Amino acid sequence: MRKTHGSKAGTLARISLGGSEIEFRLLPSRTARKLRVRVGMAGVEVVHPHDRCMDDVSDFLHTNGAWIVDQLQRVERMRGIRRPKQHTAGRILFRGESIGVQIHEDPERSGANRVVHDSDRIAILRSSTSVTPPAKSLENWLRKQARSAIELQLGVVTAKLKRQPGKVLIMGQRTKWGNCSALQNLSFNWRLIMAPEAVLRYLVTHEAVHLAVPDHSQKFWLTVRSLCPETERAKQWLCANGHRLLVDLSEICGQLTPTSGSAIGGMARCE
Ligand SMILES: [Zn+2]
Repeated sequence: MRKTHGSKAGTLARISLGGSEIEFRLLPSRTARKLRVRVGMAGVEVVHPHDRCMDDVSDFLHTNGAWIVDQLQRVERMRGIRRPKQHTAGRILFRGESIGVQIHEDPERSGANRVVHDSDRIAILRSSTSVTPPAKSLENWLRKQARSAIELQLGVVTAKLKRQPGKVLIMGQRTKWGNCSALQNLSFNWRLIMAPEAVLRYLVTHEAVHLAVPDHSQKFWLTVRSLCPETERAKQWLCANGHRLLVDLSEICGQLTPTSGSAIGGMARCE
């Protein structure tokens, strides 16, 4: 056992108990008759009557070693329960706005991770029993948001075009925002949910018009522009900002301090 440093609130010391180094505070007392130890949120405290020597303290702590280690573990668990850990990860674009991503680690939460979105943040509520990394939960949530926004817009455009797509796929490839296959299946990149709504509207319109006009002829562009007046603005935004949609979510979720989204990989096609 050794003392480290003293103060009015007692003296800090260390002792090895059950294989681990335990720090405790020694509180000298003129009135106490017996050695006493308590373990709480403040750590281990030993009331030390003035007429007892340090060897007595050491013997006393060894006698109660198993109990002290048990109590320390209990306090540790209580800390976890009382204070869910929370940290701000990076920021991402969501529907064209930069928004903070927070991660809450709550030991009391079980089941799957959950993602909640309010006006100024996206929070990933991490469960103690889920092995899914927060970045994956965030991606799954963004994919869901993308699907519903894309399907909503697609319904509007296909009704006007009087055409119906085969399947609608939400994909994650880095080189394409959207595609219309020969089988009239439409696919869209989930990352479009990060872009301003006009950009998503334009991309959905673009691919939907391919159901009627497969090429990029004048007729194609006239139809796209008539269904989506924001076409030029959206194309310019994609050229200038498309790379901002290619952020690495694991990197965002691993960051402890907010920074602007870092892009990886090159993009893309601008028509
Ligand atoms: Zn096209």
